[in-house]
Amino acid sequence: MSTRRNFLQNMGLSALGIYAFNGLNAETVLMPASAAEGPVLRVALMGLGGYASRVADAMQQSKRAKITGLISGTPGKLKSWGEKYGVPENSRYNYETFDAVKNNPDIDAVYVITPNALHHDQVIRCAAAGKHVICEKPMGLNAKQGREMVAACKKAGKQLLVGYRMHFEPLTLEIHRMRTAGELGSVKFFQGLSGFRIGDPTQWRLNKALAGGGSLMDIGIYALNGCRYMVGEEPVWVTAQETKTDFVKFKEGVDETITFQLGFPGGVTASCLSSYNMNNLDRFFLNGEKGFAELQPASSYGPIKGRTHKGPLDIPAGRPQQAVQMDEMAAIILDGKKPVIPVDGEEGLRDLVIIDAIYKAVKTGQKVKLNPGASLRAQN
Ligand code: NAD
Repeated sequence: MSTRRNFLQNMGLSALGIYAFNGLNAETVLMPASAAEGPVLRVALMGLGGYASRVADAMQQSKRAKITGLISGTPGKLKSWGEKYGVPENSRYNYETFDAVKNNPDIDAVYVITPNALHHDQVIRCAAAGKHVICEKPMGLNAKQGREMVAACKKAGKQLLVGYRMHFEPLTLEIHRMRTAGELGSVKFFQGLSGFRIGDPTQWRLNKALAGGGSLMDIGIYALNGCRYMVGEEPVWVTAQETKTDFVKFKEGVDETITFQLGFPGGVTASCLSSYNMNNLDRFFLNGEKGFAELQPASSYGPIKGRTHKGPLDIPAGRPQQAVQMDEMAAIILDGKKPVIPVDGEEGLRDLVIIDAIYKAVKTGQKVKLNPGASLRAQN
């Protein structure tokens, strides 16, 4: 067994066309083939901050995605990143000039990695410039923005994907496979805990105008998004409660901690916690009639760790999550590959619809009903 595991690690999972390997029954759990081969997606990165640095580094291990453009408001960053990643001056833009990507044949897609409030306009401008768009989470500030972004990309005939890296993560996919295969039995309950203790009070994440809210927009969205793909249904109601202990750091409209509960059509309930005031808060737990699955950490940059009623999930982490994500997104955009867990604009919009409902439930103290089919089309 260990020889085979070493072999998989040495080869790299994707080179073998394998997502996941469960040490408990190695021969029977080969997951769908990954997207290691095929044409290369040429990507312009917009917003050269902390997360873009991580994406850019990881992309050096991508087989199918390459940085061919840069968009930033800081000339020094355009120069240093351009030199580091070999992006020529004529493919470097600022926020005033980036519509000109339209005339750049070396760019297929723009990856928007800016503060949340900027995503809406930037995605719509990129689509109008005839480029596919990958947008970081949360896709926008609310469902109205999300619908406009989906519509703009549709109108332009371009794909909109959301940077949901966990949708390609091997342990996550193994639990998804087990649940779909009925190995957990009928699912009854999900718990999602997502949070960290936020530092610098001057950062954009604590500025309602740029963040659109607080912990829920930034980190609680992992528990929310996770409960949807772990349960495999769309919620039909939410309830939510907010607690705030620091009214200076967390101003009006910036949530410190929110607990929220969701109900699903099949009778599953989910209980989630989103916080900017607690560390060691990154855990998913799914309980079914025949067994359970747990991830902790569940949505960090890895390695993700997990176990089920059958034992530990003994799956090598493989390449950086963002390298795998970019290869898979290249396959989605260029080959029409259908991911196991969707990452399209509608997926991003579904989260925004529920985020709107959670904030409404906090404000009103009422249970808020959801109509998953209608909410994608609704005008508000
Ligand atoms: P960051 O502050 O490190 O970087 C943001 C970048 O946007 C900076 O380079 C900044 O200069 C630029 N920017 C452009 N216009 C700006 C403006 N008006 N105000 C402030 N900054 C402006 O933030 P980050 O952590 O890289 O987050 C960026 C996006 O990526 C957010 O939407 C966040 O939710 C998302 N993100 C996703 C993940 C993930 O794992 N998928 C992780 C971290 C961040």
